[in-house]
Amino acid sequence: MKETMKRLFSAIAILWLVVGKMAAQPVSQSQPAHANPFGRALVPDMIADASIQQVGDTFYCYATTDGYGRGLETSGPPVVWTSKDFVNWRFDGIYFPSARQEKYWAPSKAVAANGRYYIYPTVNGYMHVGVADAPEGPFRLARGADKFERPYAPEGTLLQDSDRGGIDAEVFVDDDGTPYVFWGRRHVARLSADMTVTEGEIQTIQTPQTAYSEGPIFFKRKGIYYYLYTIGGDENYQYYYGMSRTSPLGPYDFPADNLVSTTDVQTGVYGPGHGCVFNVSGTDDFYFAFLEFGRRSTNRQTYVNRLEFNADGTIRRVAVDLNGVGKLRNVKTPKPLPVRLVTASSVRPALQIAPIANPNLNRTEYFDPAFATDGANGSRWMAADTDRDCWFMLDLGKARKIRRSEIFFVRPTAPHVYTLEGSTDGTTWRTLSRHTEPTICAPQTDRVDARLRYLRVKIEDGERGIWEWNVY
Ligand code: CA
Repeated sequence: MKETMKRLFSAIAILWLVVGKMAAQPVSQSQPAHANPFGRALVPDMIADASIQQVGDTFYCYATTDGYGRGLETSGPPVVWTSKDFVNWRFDGIYFPSARQEKYWAPSKAVAANGRYYIYPTVNGYMHVGVADAPEGPFRLARGADKFERPYAPEGTLLQDSDRGGIDAEVFVDDDGTPYVFWGRRHVARLSADMTVTEGEIQTIQTPQTAYSEGPIFFKRKGIYYYLYTIGGDENYQYYYGMSRTSPLGPYDFPADNLVSTTDVQTGVYGPGHGCVFNVSGTDDFYFAFLEFGRRSTNRQTYVNRLEFNADGTIRRVAVDLNGVGKLRNVKTPKPLPVRLVTASSVRPALQIAPIANPNLNRTEYFDPAFATDGANGSRWMAADTDRDCWFMLDLGKARKIRRSEIFFVRPTAPHVYTLEGSTDGTTWRTLSRHTEPTICAPQTDRVDARLRYLRVKIEDGERGIWEWNVY
């Protein structure tokens, strides 16, 4: 009996060693070995329900932060991504500090009024009103104490009647200064002059499609008001629209072909849903941002395509794809140094993504190390779950002057503890910086100012993955 046990234990030990070795097997690549099904997402993170606007020389993107692992029970904290050119995006810290721990969904853009900025997120299931002096915050509740009560307290909410509830506020200020708010289930009302509560009758817009609707989008172009509303969800999310030449309150005309966006199996876009429309200042260029089904509806990414109009003002159906629109402002930005080879301590096994509603969905995500240097925000390297000694290395091919390193970690809204090291020969390493104080930002930037061939990051805490790593 003892002998049997001994043999069993040694068999387990050998198996454990083999599995451990397999899990920790480093993988080197110069190119990804697999296709990237998630293309050129707007930002290197999982975001949904985006509201994008340009203020001065900066684009701001407010959104729901996805990927927190418990479906719709939770969300990431409020962060605002900014960009000067619409290609390079970053965020620093939390823009609505009192909402940091709350379920923070679908913020509107920060609307300029009364010399300040107002934002309308859905917090713990109710629309709230925040105010700040600048579009990047910090925001606080516009009324009452700067504190969120659960499950529901009317203090600070947009709709004072608890029976009504409502999600997904979209706020529009007309040329005459009158503010309006649209929200889920096709609701619209005027806003008070102080921007903090609805005023007058709450109306419901009558549309040809009558199923449940959320994520309204509203904008004005050449004297025409456009109202976009969603139908469905998951892989079958769609946008339809109506237009009015009279008022944001209607009446609305609905063109015969009033579909704005829908799934396109050819381009790999499933369920283009809750997003926004924005305009580039000083142009007639409009863009449509949408979330995509991603990794089963709560791990989504956001994409942008052009929105085009016919001569009569009707909207052309958007040819949705995952390729992005590139730079929207002509800003000089430095090019990252070319990387010859990347090596990761391990690679997570492929993720097969099962459909929810559309049986045509056939999607597998791979986590190749080379996805961390492919210039695409939709693809990422992830370490194996069993990898307790996780690292990732860049080889530039020869020693080069490196000024700085910018790492876009996976899940940047939950901080990372990491050590950055450099080497000229790949054998002798020196520590360039060590991050023990977790900070919430993307990218994580480190001054290097050294001549090196190799850089290596050891991820000690936080999600063990990288969307993109650029060195300059
Ligand atoms: Ca990538």
